[in-house]
Amino acid sequence: MSETTQRTEEEWRALLSPEQYEIMRNHGTEPAFTGKYVSTKDDGTYSCAACGEELFSSDTKFESGTGWPSFTEPGVAENIETRIDPSLNMVRTEVLCAKCGSHLGHVFDDGPGPTGKRFCINSCALELEPGDGR
Ligand code: FE
Repeated sequence: MSETTQRTEEEWRALLSPEQYEIMRNHGTEPAFTGKYVSTKDDGTYSCAACGEELFSSDTKFESGTGWPSFTEPGVAENIETRIDPSLNMVRTEVLCAKCGSHLGHVFDDGPGPTGKRFCINSCALELEPGDGR
C-alpha cells in the first residue's frame, strides 16, 4: 500500500462519511436500491471513494435488478483484491480495493456475458468520474 493509504482508523473516520466508514472499513452493506449509482448509466470511471484508485468502468456496468451497482469485470484487475468471506453463514467472495484495503462489495458467479461474473458493489464505496470510460 502506498503512504497515502496507510491510515489509522481515526483518520478513516474523519475522511469518510459515517455510512462510508461503516461499509468500507467495517464491511457493511448499504440497503438495496438506496445507493446513488444503482441505476446510473453515465459514462465514466468508478474510483474508490476512499483512496481514488480506478476500479470499474461504466462499460462493464449492467442492470442486475439486485439494488446495487453491478459490473461484469474490474476496470483494472490489479486494483481489485478478493478473498473468501464466510460471514452470515454463507461463503461469499469479498471484493476489496487493492490499494487501500477498503471493502467494496462481493463478486458472484451469476453475471452475464463472457465473464459470468457479477461484481456487486456498494454505491457509497464508489465515486464516478465522468468521461468516456475504458
Ligand atoms: Fe481504495
